[in-house]
Amino acid sequence: MTAKQTVTDVLIVGAGPTGLLLAGDLATAGVRVTVLEKRGTESNLTRAFAVHARSLEMLDARGLADDLIATGRPLGSLRLFDKVRVDLSNLPTRFPFVLITPQSNTERLLQERAEKAGATILRGVEVTGLRQDAEGVTLEAREDGRTTGYRARYAVGTDGVHSTVRDLLGIPFPGESVVNSVVLADVRLEREPAEVITVGATEDGFAFLAPFGDGWYRVIAWDRHEQHPDGTPPPLERIAELTRNTLGQDYGLHDARWSSTFHSDERQAPNYRSGRVFLAGDAAHCHSPAGGQGMNTGLQDAANLSWKLAAAVQGWATDALLDTYQTERHPVGKAVLRSSGALVRLALAHSAPTRALRGALTTIAEHLDVVATRGAKLVSGIGIRYAAPKDAHPLAGRRVPDLRLTGLEEPREDGPASPERLYEALRGGKFVLVSNDELSAADPWADRVVTAAPADPHGKLRDTVLLIRPDGYAAWAAVDPGRGELRAALAHWLGTPGDN
Ligand SMILES: Cc1cc2nc3c(=O)[nH]c(=O)nc-3n(C[C@H](O)[C@H](O)[C@H](O)COP(=O)(O)OP(=O)(O)OC[C@H]3O[C@@H](n4cnc5c(N)ncnc54)[C@H](O)[C@@H]3O)c2cc1C
Repeated sequence: MTAKQTVTDVLIVGAGPTGLLLAGDLATAGVRVTVLEKRGTESNLTRAFAVHARSLEMLDARGLADDLIATGRPLGSLRLFDKVRVDLSNLPTRFPFVLITPQSNTERLLQERAEKAGATILRGVEVTGLRQDAEGVTLEAREDGRTTGYRARYAVGTDGVHSTVRDLLGIPFPGESVVNSVVLADVRLEREPAEVITVGATEDGFAFLAPFGDGWYRVIAWDRHEQHPDGTPPPLERIAELTRNTLGQDYGLHDARWSSTFHSDERQAPNYRSGRVFLAGDAAHCHSPAGGQGMNTGLQDAANLSWKLAAAVQGWATDALLDTYQTERHPVGKAVLRSSGALVRLALAHSAPTRALRGALTTIAEHLDVVATRGAKLVSGIGIRYAAPKDAHPLAGRRVPDLRLTGLEEPREDGPASPERLYEALRGGKFVLVSNDELSAADPWADRVVTAAPADPHGKLRDTVLLIRPDGYAAWAAVDPGRGELRAALAHWLGTPGDN
């Protein structure tokens, strides 16, 4: 290794959506962060098109949701297969839809935010080695034909499905292949489809069309009788034929600017943490694109980890808090693997029993509101909740909706002039304490928590004191707690005042 060694607080390997959101959060919290990305230039390969409601809420808590929505098209329902649609229009959120926008738009906004907040993003740097000791982590990287060293207190592998960090840690990635020989192409169409997203399936395969918004469309097609090794797509004429046969309409595909093939695996790392190194996003879990969950889950991993890691760097997080990244996010990853796996298997159903099951589920989903509502909450991420102690208030661990608030201090330079809702209050990356009184109890922790009262003092939170984590989930709540109880809860979640 050369003598050069860059020292920082957190090293992030991989500048995909997961790494970029994490970098922006850490930099906003004042943590020194460097992202190492092996690609020399920004990615122009869009995979994800769907940004779900919970991710939009997370982006809203970073001041990015409205800008992202301006780049795409909101859809009030999402068709999964056959006639099965999830209706998102009744979700209890500011974003009752799925946003269709190419992944590159999400990455661009996240990168701009991270750089503005002070994150260093180094491209053309491929991580090849990792060592850790009691004080920190050393990464070895190849850049410009040389090997260089990077040192930090913590490192996070957000380096995708083929994660080098995961391999260097010796963490396995068990699972199986779900579907092979899926063809991708970016094309122009002679006839614009009637719907924003066009999906179809037959006995032989499926096809999907989504707009980039600039006249180009992404087509994804699969035929069970065709095998194409990864990276060797069939000619455009065949892709057009597959799409036409499956969708039952000829949209006049022409002018492919790019095409490829891929196979989709269903895998999950058993451990998201090894000492001072964490895994997030596709490095920790991967599954079929059905339901559009991958990028969304990665963004939410990053939002869960960032404030815990910032607190550790600032010296007020316990090791147990860092462990909650695994206990909270591993079950979410597992549930996503299960639901996207079930979807893809039903969509690819070939055997008579599975096709019968698919028919039955179609009927159930069409007629049972409760199934439809659960489906919408599952797909959108709005239904995610984290485990809380048995004797905790029922709100603990739950997602907190965008409450109307009053009395918020500290408007940020780049934030709204007078914040009046929770997702604006979260933009500084701090906890939010909501209460009709006793707010001064939080004064000693003013560097870690902002305080506000519910806008409606007589509403549901009239007697409840609610402490909300920087990722928008309830840390703790109590009805009419005494000052001592409140201070104990603040000390539990925010450490000893003045520790940093
Ligand atoms: C066809 C398709 C459609 C999809 N549709 C959706 C959808 O609609 N919605 C959705 O939510 N998800 C979707 N996904 C999944 C989504 O694209 C991924 O989940 C998402 O890109 C994962 O983000 P990430 O940041 O974790 O990893 P990645 O985006 O894979 O980024 C990893 C980064 O790490 C870099 N890297 C790798 N190794 C190293 C190294 N050794 N050193 C330095 N850098 C390294 C890579 O160059 C890359 O930039 C789809 C996927 C596919 C294939």
